[in-house]
Amino acid sequence: MFTVSRSSLTGWGRTNPSVADVADVLAGELPSVLKEAGPRGVLVRGLGRSYGDAAQNGGGLVLRLLGSATDAVLDRDAGTVRVGAGASLDELLRILVPRGFFVPVTPGTRFVTIGGAIASDIHGKNHHVEGSFGNHVVRLSLQRADGSVAELSRHDDPELFWATIGGMGLTGIVVDATLRLLPIQSSRMAVDTHRITDLEALFATMAEGDEHHRYSVAWIDLNAKGRQLGRSVLSRGDHARADQLPASVAVHPLAYGPKQLVAVPPIVPRPGVLNHASIAAFNEFWFRKAPRQRLGELQTISSFFHPLDMVGSWPRFYGRPGLVQYQFVVPFGQEGTMRRVVERISASGAASFLAVLKRFGAGNDAPLSFPQPGWTLALDMPGGTTGLGELLHGLDTLVLDAGGRNYFAKDAHTVPETIRRGYPRLAEWQAVRRRADPLGMWQSDLGRRLRLADD
Ligand SMILES: Cc1cc2nc3c(=O)[nH]c(=O)nc-3n(C[C@H](O)[C@H](O)[C@H](O)COP(=O)(O)OP(=O)(O)OC[C@H]3O[C@@H](n4cnc5c(N)ncnc54)[C@H](O)[C@@H]3O)c2cc1C
Repeated sequence: MFTVSRSSLTGWGRTNPSVADVADVLAGELPSVLKEAGPRGVLVRGLGRSYGDAAQNGGGLVLRLLGSATDAVLDRDAGTVRVGAGASLDELLRILVPRGFFVPVTPGTRFVTIGGAIASDIHGKNHHVEGSFGNHVVRLSLQRADGSVAELSRHDDPELFWATIGGMGLTGIVVDATLRLLPIQSSRMAVDTHRITDLEALFATMAEGDEHHRYSVAWIDLNAKGRQLGRSVLSRGDHARADQLPASVAVHPLAYGPKQLVAVPPIVPRPGVLNHASIAAFNEFWFRKAPRQRLGELQTISSFFHPLDMVGSWPRFYGRPGLVQYQFVVPFGQEGTMRRVVERISASGAASFLAVLKRFGAGNDAPLSFPQPGWTLALDMPGGTTGLGELLHGLDTLVLDAGGRNYFAKDAHTVPETIRRGYPRLAEWQAVRRRADPLGMWQSDLGRRLRLADD
């Protein structure tokens, strides 16, 4: 039996809190829980790793789906797994990796749920080769607003299937899903690292060589200016084959047991300690510490994909104002726009610790899926930065004029008009959503802020 408690919720960036009734529920309880919905509707929340207000529903009901990956059903022959949507990638990886499989897409943290991965249609370092999470969903079951559960796939109600992928929880609750997996021979990554001197060199190196690697991402120093603008550390890798492992690792090639070093940062800085000077110093150190070139280094899955997970609630480093994430994509051919964005950020005095550039490959059929072919930049900034809103809205204009768009899972600042320009298939998605949820049961702070449901 579920209990409801009133809680203040935020996203991972710890900005824009709102108060909702929150309940942990089993999938079987959903039909009766939905009868409790009031006028502010219902939203399902995963592990709250979206940065802004996507997993909040102020004044309404927020449900967290109970369930773990221990019930997952692995079909080794088909190379698929059926798993509850409330399970996390962390739990799933602990089951899959020792059995020689890897998830098709992982973001920069393994603490996301399967439901959250589908709802944001997340992408990883392999988007240029394998696309986003939704590309690998074979089927899913969706709890609908009328209490029924629909089985969806590319063949069964494909419109609702694709509207749910990237649909930010606003078409229903994904209860479970079957995912296509990647077979692996080891739990190690073979990684090439290159220090790159400027942005143009980075574009050229990535455009030339990314296709030879399954995974690729560049960390950029957004504080560097002039001839050093866009200096970066490019890291590209592949799952190591058994014959690439040294004897000490080859004994247990699929051993996997990632650990968190600390759950909460030991110090929470006073506001202002994370400022332009301290962040610039960190970036300088990070760039200098990287090797000019290192080929074939063996790394663990967690150090290659999930380094931030080693410190638990790391946004606490940003103190009370929290942090704002900003991620956008611009099409190939718009490298000049990417350069202008980097110049503006670097000149603004706003500081970013963690900025990463990736190349996206083809998008998929989901009308609200974020990735499209082009360059994507993700960065974070202290929430209290003076003039931050003005800076980001100005960047939005550059991005939209170049034919690009922003990512819902990171967003905390955009406005309805920005989304309408960036997502030309919004009306198509809205029509499917109206059919699936005519009374508007599914609601979120993000949905209301961006008027996603109605036009
Ligand atoms: C350190 C870090 C690194 C990240 N790196 C990346 C990255 O590389 N690539 C990337 O794409 N994203 C990245 N993200 C963002 C993250 O992958 C997404 O925000 C993801 O959706 C979070 O999953 P969650 O389970 O925490 O969902 P939440 O944040 O709790 O919810 C996100 C959305 O999913 C919906 N949702 C959750 N469960 C369900 C369900 N069962 N059915 C239907 N809808 C549901 C919610 O309603 C909400 O709209 C990163 C986040 C962090 C903190």
